[in-house]
Amino acid sequence: MSLANGRHYLAIPGPSVMPDRVLAAMHRAAPNIYEGELVESVATVRQDLKWLAGSSSNLAIYITNGHGAWEAANMNMFSRGDKALVLVTGRFGVGWAAAARQIGVEVEVLDFGLKSPIDPARVEEALRADPSIRAVLMTHVDTATSVRNDVRAVRGAIDAAGHDALLAVDAVASFGCDPFEFDGWGVDVMISASQKGLMTPPGLGLVWFSDKAKEAPRTDLVTPMWDWGPRTDFSFFYEQFAGTAPTHLLLGLREALTMIREEGREAVFDRHDALAHTVWAAFDAWSLGNPNIGLNVADPAFRARAVTAARFGAPHGTAIRAWTEKNAGVILGIGLGMAEPTDPAYHGFLRVAHMGHVNAHMTLGVLAVMEAAMKALDIPHGDGALAAAAQVVADRA
Ligand SMILES: *Cc1c(COP(=O)(O)O)cnc(C)c1O
Repeated sequence: MSLANGRHYLAIPGPSVMPDRVLAAMHRAAPNIYEGELVESVATVRQDLKWLAGSSSNLAIYITNGHGAWEAANMNMFSRGDKALVLVTGRFGVGWAAAARQIGVEVEVLDFGLKSPIDPARVEEALRADPSIRAVLMTHVDTATSVRNDVRAVRGAIDAAGHDALLAVDAVASFGCDPFEFDGWGVDVMISASQKGLMTPPGLGLVWFSDKAKEAPRTDLVTPMWDWGPRTDFSFFYEQFAGTAPTHLLLGLREALTMIREEGREAVFDRHDALAHTVWAAFDAWSLGNPNIGLNVADPAFRARAVTAARFGAPHGTAIRAWTEKNAGVILGIGLGMAEPTDPAYHGFLRVAHMGHVNAHMTLGVLAVMEAAMKALDIPHGDGALAAAAQVVADRA
């Protein structure tokens, strides 16, 4: 028998759960792309995206995903041969660095490993050693390791070095889940995408940029499709998309932002914080009965509120994922970047997403079916995890 029938829950860190309201907003005939409702609603989408990012500056919306947003940011920041300092705390900094290198940017990588946040002292030292660095690239939340970095501390390192480099931040996983203060933290470029905290299908890449970034001389790498200039300073509606607008994604995103506005920005962040603590409480209890079980990031201050990376010891990570999908309708995230897929150790890791349209019963349900999987598979684990998780919900609700 399987107990999986019913609405399944895709608990992977993107694409995230799409609210019925977002799906319904897209279920309609195409709107006019020259005037009327769509044109008006995109103006409010832009305002709300800036509001959610704590940004008063510029925004470019691309028909792309997070990889495209990396490339857009790179092409607008760098000319061929310019230098980037890339701060890596898992998988995603590696990807952004590779995207820069491939278009002719010189890349210096500072790697902080798979469990630790960025050390601002090392950033300051690297900047002091090289005044030519054009931009520092960092990941706010690395979705593979679930390390959450302190953006303000990196800004502090740039300032302490007296360096003029731009600060560019990948907030694909964290946007709409963890607080972000573009202006307040002194960020120059920030990227995100539609399919994580924004609860909308993949297909929109977002790039916020400061006046300092905008006023820099035009780079020799940027092409018309990626040029952020006309996407923020446009005379005609189509220019902000370099062609036909992604009509239905914009309608969906409009509805998602309305839902975020209704709940309130701080309330959305608090909900993610509470659900993250709920997951951590269960892991703390499980790990007491099995030292192979544990959270990837030791210090809660540096843990993402959108996703939790954990270990169970090989092959239990993969076995738990297979069990919960087959028997309980819950699809957990693979362990990304912790070991090569050909390495047996790969099967020890998994990730639990708690990003976007997620509430207490979904998170408690995920934890309960994970415990059922451990019982079914005879994986030793400590007692009291579900009671501890329920207590967090009771305390925080
Ligand atoms: C998901 C993600 C990306 C990549 O986004 P795609 O839409 O898959 O290209 C980049 N950075 C981070 C931190 C992410 O979580």
